[in-house]
Amino acid sequence: MTKKISNKQHFENSAIIYSTKGFSAVCDYANKHKIGYEFCKACDSQSPSIQHICLACGSSTSKKYIVSVCRISYAFRDIEVEAVDENHAMRLAREEAGNHEFSEKSADYTADVVREK
Ligand SMILES: [Zn+2]
Repeated sequence: MTKKISNKQHFENSAIIYSTKGFSAVCDYANKHKIGYEFCKACDSQSPSIQHICLACGSSTSKKYIVSVCRISYAFRDIEVEAVDENHAMRLAREEAGNHEFSEKSADYTADVVREK
């Protein structure tokens, strides 16, 4: 049975491998241990990374994004109207709704547009 290598140990091993044998040796090490790759801006290449930290150079492989978020809120209140039937009452209430204060009870958020910073 093989002992599981901790992430900390992977970083320490990789640092030694990188300083003595270079980038491709770190890749060999990562492949052997089935470590995934992410793009590292500092290395300017796909680099083995753990928890979004490049194993070769130690830089973050995370990128900044700007996401446009739309907040859609829902609020409820009762409005009293005088009408001839239920449909008429609902129409009158909709027309009058803009004149009333609503206390917000809940909201949804949608993230529609994302662009890399
Ligand atoms: Zn790197």
